[in-house]
Amino acid sequence: GKAVALDLHQVFDDMMALKVKNFKNKNIQVVKQYAENLPKVTGVEDQVKQVALNLLQNAEEAIHGPNGKIRVVTSVLESEVTVQVEDTGCGIASEDIPKIFEPFYTTKAEVKGTGLGLSVSYGIVQKHGGSIECASTPGSGTRFTLKLPIFQNGG
Ligand code: ADP
Ligand code: MG
Repeated sequence: GKAVALDLHQVFDDMMALKVKNFKNKNIQVVKQYAENLPKVTGVEDQVKQVALNLLQNAEEAIHGPNGKIRVVTSVLESEVTVQVEDTGCGIASEDIPKIFEPFYTTKAEVKGTGLGLSVSYGIVQKHGGSIECASTPGSGTRFTLKLPIFQNGG
């Protein structure tokens, strides 16, 4: 894959479209809070899509009860585009947050989780010169913050 100018709204919309049936079945409400005129980022499309899908999938899998909600919020900060993926799921204990980006770390049943989603995502984001962070409140929800560099013509 080659790095190109990517519209992250398009990327997230495409990945949400893959999940819309699941979200409906589970009664999960998806709220998009998209910034106007969001600049494009530099990225390998399939890889950035994989990160987006992993985050949405994890958000879905964290929601167990009714009235679940996933919010996707975009913004620009200096030379980066920020996407926050927030869920109202089970949350992550603070002592476990450092482990979630490690390969094969999973709290899900073997059949469901490989524990590779976030470690692969972390590697992709690093290669792109971006960052990915997690903040969570157990019993309340989790927020992942993804940052990718704005596409610069000729750079
Ligand atoms: P997997 O989903 O296969 O378990 P991941 O690498 O995607 O592997 O995630 C690792 C672990 O991080 C999960 O098993 C879960 O414990 C935790 N996790 C990731 N995202 C969330 C989330 N949105 N809410 C709660 N826990 C999460
Ligand atoms: Mg996962």
